[in-house]
Amino acid sequence: MHLNPYGEYAVLLAASLANDWPADRAGIVARTRDFGMTVDFPAASEDHLRVRGVIDDWLTVVDEPDPHRRADILNDHMATASAYPRLTDHHDEGWHLHYRSDDARSLPHVLFAVISVGTALHVSTRGMHRLRRCAAGETPGDPCSAVVVDITRNGRQRYCSVRCANRAAVRRHRARGTADG
Ligand SMILES: [Zn+2]
Ligand SMILES: [Zn+2]
Repeated sequence: MHLNPYGEYAVLLAASLANDWPADRAGIVARTRDFGMTVDFPAASEDHLRVRGVIDDWLTVVDEPDPHRRADILNDHMATASAYPRLTDHHDEGWHLHYRSDDARSLPHVLFAVISVGTALHVSTRGMHRLRRCAAGETPGDPCSAVVVDITRNGRQRYCSVRCANRAAVRRHRARGTADG
């Protein structure tokens, strides 16, 4: 994967895995392909479980509202993954940066490195607030807990979908109606 300067694909991949968790390892690998990763991962029996752990760790970033604490968690993740840049030119792809060593190729490790760096790029270039849970789920009883990665121009995306935005709008309308009489 060539991380673009905004880290967009890696953070969208993380959100996709969080919002629609694959049933098995093959499903995770297929998802990495969908988001542009071309790495071949050596198979390990624990991969499915360990990638779930990577996503759960990433959700602690999503759920940390304080920007400084959010940065601390991401810095900690990048340090744990040794996710500093290395120049590489495998498969005639041209010289590009990897954020892991060549011998750290397991599926969980590569995802941990690429997702933590991608998320750090995303929040540092687009804005610390552009990663959150769907605002519809803030209403007690609402079932949505989807992650929203805001890559819009104006940076005001609060809902994961039109459906959730509409449901919240209907609730606001009803609440006003009750208040009015
Ligand atoms: Zn590469
Ligand atoms: Zn939603």
